[in-house]
Amino acid sequence: MTGRHHLYIPGPTNVPDRLLRAMHRAQEDHRSASFPTLTRSILSRLPAVVGSTTATPFVFPASGSAMWEAALVNSVNPGARLLAVRFGQFSHLFIQTARSLGYTVDVIEVPWGEGAHPELIEAALRADTSHEIQGVLLVHNETATGVTSDVGAVRTAMDRAQHPALLFVDGVSSIASLDFQMDAWRVDCAITGSQKGFMLPAGLGILYCSDRVVNSLESITTPRAYFDLRPMLANNRQGYFPSTPALTLLWGLDEALTMLLDEGMSNVVARHARLAEGVRQAVHAWGLSLCATEPRWYSNTVSALVVPDGADARRVIELAAARWNLALGSGLTQLAGRVFRIGHMGDVNELMLAGALAGTEMALLDAGIAVTPGSGVAAAATSWRATMPASAV
Ligand SMILES: *Cc1c(COP(=O)(O)O)cnc(C)c1O
Repeated sequence: MTGRHHLYIPGPTNVPDRLLRAMHRAQEDHRSASFPTLTRSILSRLPAVVGSTTATPFVFPASGSAMWEAALVNSVNPGARLLAVRFGQFSHLFIQTARSLGYTVDVIEVPWGEGAHPELIEAALRADTSHEIQGVLLVHNETATGVTSDVGAVRTAMDRAQHPALLFVDGVSSIASLDFQMDAWRVDCAITGSQKGFMLPAGLGILYCSDRVVNSLESITTPRAYFDLRPMLANNRQGYFPSTPALTLLWGLDEALTMLLDEGMSNVVARHARLAEGVRQAVHAWGLSLCATEPRWYSNTVSALVVPDGADARRVIELAAARWNLALGSGLTQLAGRVFRIGHMGDVNELMLAGALAGTEMALLDAGIAVTPGSGVAAAATSWRATMPASAV
């Protein structure tokens, strides 16, 4: 097909040309005297992305899922009991990872389309009077359903229950796109990867740990090898890595940090909110509904659209790819066929999303779903024009 491919899945996201250029260079000696400059530039700036001045960041050649494991094995002892909320495929996989590692997980089941209800977490923690539960696992932004939970409210619930459990937050599809306040929310482990808000190819797992986690690394007895944070920390302090870092991605990450911090995290967050609202206006104009059941759960990085009864979301995705060179996200497991997803995360702007919405609109019509041609694009345009930031001329 001629022209650009339109990638609007919720990760990997579009890699801006500036980052492609930053990564387009020859390999170098990662043990050289000058290498620590790059390591320090990255590690010193990563915390600002999650609203932290105190977190210790770790970067592994891995993906986001690997950081579920890295977080757990470095902070909870074998056989520990954990509490988790399940409301979509990613929260499910986080729980599965913890169970595969031998931890016991108490699960609060929530209908897919809702998020973490702080009062349910508070009740579960209050019931644990002997403080057996050592950690709470929370997916900040459930990418499968387009649902964002209120991490600050979960922290408040934990405090109200006066429970000392650690707080683990999967921020894979929120960090670097949605508001994330690691210090204010007292998150102990924040987990992400390179291919979503950081606008890079997949290949880096990024983990942020609180002082509480870093200070207890020596006392944890869970077996760990590649993901042992101790050699990583020792090497990072000298500006190096224990094994070969993913150099290409590190150059990209360094430049991505410059892009994000130059824009300013609050502006990044506001941009995602504003663009997402336009997408939601389009969904409304089409007469479709979101998987997220209430506005308080709406995600500003991904929208999961429910197709009308009798329609097949898989067909919309197939036709969007075959006819319009547009990649939309599929419905995962129990949502397959019912839902398709539009990613609006990372390096996006109004006209990119207008293209995605135009293609979606055509694919919906192609799949026999009656929407008014142009209605979604018009609704989004109206929303974006009405919410233009004052700083724009
Ligand atoms: C994408 C995603 C993951 C998985 O990350 P990988 O980099 O694919 O391993 C985990 N959690 C959430 C919420 C995600 O969106």
